[in-house]
Amino acid sequence: MEVKKGIGVSPGIAIAKSVVIDSEEYRIPRRSIMSSQRKMEIKRVREAFLDAVAELSKLDEAQSIEERKIRDIFAVHMSFLRDRSLRKKITDLIYSECLTAEYAVSTTLREIATRIAQVKDAYISERAADIYDIERRLLKHLLGEKREDVAHLTEEVVVVAHQLSPTQTAGFNRTFVKGIATDVGGRTSHSAIVARSLGIPAVVAVEDVSAAVGAGDMVIIDGNRGVVVISPDDETVREYEQYLRDFERLEHELDAIRDKPAVTRDGTQVQMLGNIEFPDETQIVLAKGGQGIGLYRTEFLYLYNEQEPTESDHYEAYAEAVLAFTYRPVVIRTMDLGADKYTQSKRYTPEPNPCLGLRSIRLCLQDLSMFKTQLRAILRVSVLGDVKIMFPLITNLEELRHAKMILHDVMEDLDEESIPYKHDIEVGIMIETPSAALTAGTLARDVDFFSIGTNDLIQYTLAVDRGNERVATLFSAGEPAVLRLIRAVVQDAYRAKIGLHICGEMASEPEYIMLLLGMGVRTFSLAPPMIPEVKKIIRSVTITDCNQLTRKILTMNSRRQISNYLMDATRKIIPEVF
Ligand code: PEP
Ligand code: MG
Repeated sequence: MEVKKGIGVSPGIAIAKSVVIDSEEYRIPRRSIMSSQRKMEIKRVREAFLDAVAELSKLDEAQSIEERKIRDIFAVHMSFLRDRSLRKKITDLIYSECLTAEYAVSTTLREIATRIAQVKDAYISERAADIYDIERRLLKHLLGEKREDVAHLTEEVVVVAHQLSPTQTAGFNRTFVKGIATDVGGRTSHSAIVARSLGIPAVVAVEDVSAAVGAGDMVIIDGNRGVVVISPDDETVREYEQYLRDFERLEHELDAIRDKPAVTRDGTQVQMLGNIEFPDETQIVLAKGGQGIGLYRTEFLYLYNEQEPTESDHYEAYAEAVLAFTYRPVVIRTMDLGADKYTQSKRYTPEPNPCLGLRSIRLCLQDLSMFKTQLRAILRVSVLGDVKIMFPLITNLEELRHAKMILHDVMEDLDEESIPYKHDIEVGIMIETPSAALTAGTLARDVDFFSIGTNDLIQYTLAVDRGNERVATLFSAGEPAVLRLIRAVVQDAYRAKIGLHICGEMASEPEYIMLLLGMGVRTFSLAPPMIPEVKKIIRSVTITDCNQLTRKILTMNSRRQISNYLMDATRKIIPEVF
């Protein structure tokens, strides 16, 4: 049994066998075998080589590859796979050291790759990538289904990977994928957000978990405490099964307040909205008592398809959400591609610093035809319910005005075509850059509402990558700089009499709820599974207490002091949420 610590990013407990997903960097753990098993392992190696050769020949025929270069690459792979001395090296290792076939293949090939990579001649050193490719191909045959993709699951599993993209996470079959653990990531990385939205327990930043877990190992994922237990003993499994039952009971109790209003003990009404990435998540929002959608992350429409979505793709996706919430708000955020919501390989020109690059609204303002297609669909769907438009990553007034100008152009086009839309549709912006927060008073004159995106606001204010586990401890909403910005934005929104939402992950962290209420936030938008817990906190406090707590917090200059104070205060009122 091995216990590893990481960051719990999506609550819940999962106990199941693992599927380890391939990634460039996976390593196979060193496992010994009994000497009686050596023959069997050597046979497995021979079969894997034969299968890999057969696969490669098929690939070569089927694709009728013309380019010499690609043919050459396959030829190199083939010659390696047919090289008897390579196979002998692997089988000798199994024989002399009693190791598994996977480990012997992986170490032998990696050793060769490392040596080749060190050769001064660039042509030769670049061949190291081919060796890794051959390693991957052989391991795929050795590990078979267990290391296959997770598209065809038939039993419950936990997924272990070095890293997952948001798109991979979103594609998981929720019936079978019960938990996730990755080597890297942070609380607000987008795959963590997706896991939370889907209600899949997840722990990220678990050092080397993908190397430590073997395919098919029993694994416990504790998303509440950020713990992963590999090959647990019977007693630990029993303890966790009990813990799981308790957790499910608490969830059940929370679900019981689904239809109760989100109102504080002294009568202040709060609006609870859901953040979604896909239209079918509206059902989870409804099931958890959400009163609408405060953030529809539409970029998943682009990430999921190879082709750019058409106007009707957009329309259909939005209509499904809007119709589920007739006459309740649905805030559709225009496409926020870029940073970790874009694979660099999908880009024509990979950027050295994508978080500060051509992302989000900047990309839209450069690709007007793509932007207008989306705006047309949002406007057309606006007649079906209470639809609002929101622009992400606004940094200054010119950018906002430019985006609004394009919106008006699209409105004129629709007028000319006599296509109906809501002429007075509300337009809002995300406040997620320090520049927008500092100039919120000015921006407020041009919009109907603000939505504070604390994930990016924290990232850009503290210069801490939201998805990088190495700096994860520096990423905190409790930093005085962040709190001052949030408070200023809330005050500017109040002064300008415009709407104010909060939609970053801070809105679902129990210790910040009283503080946000005390600052004046009355609309929370969060991952749907978290709605009942936050509602429970809201129903347990008074605004008078929240105001007092906020006054006290704003006098503090240290994050640690702030965090401790908030934890204690929240724990006193509702100990069960911790
Ligand atoms: C945010 O930045 O806080 C936010 C809600 O947007 P996203 O997480 O999609 O970047
Ligand atoms: Mg953001």
